[in-house]
Amino acid sequence: MGEPERVGLCHCATCRKNTGGPYLAFAVFEVGRVTIEGALKAHRAPTIDRRFCPQCGTLICLAEEGVDEIDLMLGTFDEPPPFTPQYELWVSHRQDWLGAVPAARQYAGNRDDGAIEG
Ligand SMILES: [Zn+2]
Repeated sequence: MGEPERVGLCHCATCRKNTGGPYLAFAVFEVGRVTIEGALKAHRAPTIDRRFCPQCGTLICLAEEGVDEIDLMLGTFDEPPPFTPQYELWVSHRQDWLGAVPAARQYAGNRDDGAIEG
């Protein structure tokens, strides 16, 4: 497995609902560097496709229309990947009982909105 472009967490309500957990953890790779064997089921949203394992329903990845990157869910790797999240999105929506990842750049919203620290 190669190194991802970046690794992050998202605390937004959509990602919480997509995972059923308190946040979504993902590694971003260029599309051309990822090979997915077997067919995935897709759920099309207005801008982002969510792709699932057709056997067990696990969310495998997110793909945004017109973007040459794919977000692989960190929890789907057979072994825990050796990546540490470098940033957190939508920390304004982080659960009160959850702390920040040490040294991860914190964003109140998306990365386009600019970091609030780090
Ligand atoms: Zn999100």
